[in-house]
Amino acid sequence: MGSRSGLYNVARQAPSSAGLYNFARKNGLLLGICDGGPLAPCFFDPSTLRGTPFVSRKKDRGDPATLLPGVRHVVVVGRPYAAVDGALSSLGYGVDYHAALTAHLQVLAALFPATTRYAMQVDSGPLYERGFALKAGLGLRGCNGMVIATEAGVGSYFNMGLLLVDGEIPGVAPSRGTVLCCEHCGACRGACPGAAIDANGVDPLRCVSYISQKPGPLSPQETALLQRSGQLYGCDLCQRVCPHNRAVPVQPQAVLPQDFLQMDAAAFCEKYGKTAMAWRGLETIKRNARVSVG
Ligand code: SF4
Ligand code: SF4
Repeated sequence: MGSRSGLYNVARQAPSSAGLYNFARKNGLLLGICDGGPLAPCFFDPSTLRGTPFVSRKKDRGDPATLLPGVRHVVVVGRPYAAVDGALSSLGYGVDYHAALTAHLQVLAALFPATTRYAMQVDSGPLYERGFALKAGLGLRGCNGMVIATEAGVGSYFNMGLLLVDGEIPGVAPSRGTVLCCEHCGACRGACPGAAIDANGVDPLRCVSYISQKPGPLSPQETALLQRSGQLYGCDLCQRVCPHNRAVPVQPQAVLPQDFLQMDAAAFCEKYGKTAMAWRGLETIKRNARVSVG
């Protein structure tokens, strides 16, 4: 495949909506389906207007037709990941989800008739995945910017990918026209070390997760915030305190800054090469470790 988004021709049987949901259930995945029309403005988190780093700046992030002309449906697949408590975020510490999610999307795509054209996106692509997850009924929008799964026991600990098809999917329920939000309990706002969460979502310039992934030198303010947080890569605090995540088991993580300061590239590759944080590379994590030890 070589790419996480692209166009393909496929040859197999037509699935119903129920068949797709069954596939997801059997594979421990979340699934939602929405129409292929553009996202209404309500599906965009206010923080998307803040120039979030690592996120596509393209204006057509809400229009699936930019990825697949003639698209009829967007199938949103969520893959739960394990929650850990430590200096590496659960998402970064876990196995790189791109390959796993892409494999699931490929299996789903292969269920469609030969005449169906499709495209997929896992993380790197123009479309705003969280907005499609909300429109497809996968979950609620949290004040911390996360999508909170409506399925019990998953909370916001899942990543997602999109499968776009230009064929009909029988039995699809109408797409959501409005966004369901969390109950605004304020726990995430109170726990955030950077006071990054406000009525406009998450301010990336004050968010430890973004700062810890940003390459290059940090400003004095960023350095102070990162040091105060004690994080080496990413940040889960706003997820950890969210009541929707109470049922998610959390494993302790024994990782120290010194582990990285003494590490060379080969050792990093061997130990963390298959994790989602490997793409950022050892140097950024070493920088964070130096900040952490002061
Ligand atoms: S990831 Fe951390 S710093 Fe960013 S909003 Fe959540 S709690 Fe705040
Ligand atoms: S902690 Fe409360 S306010 Fe924040 S996302 Fe969860 S439910 Fe919403």
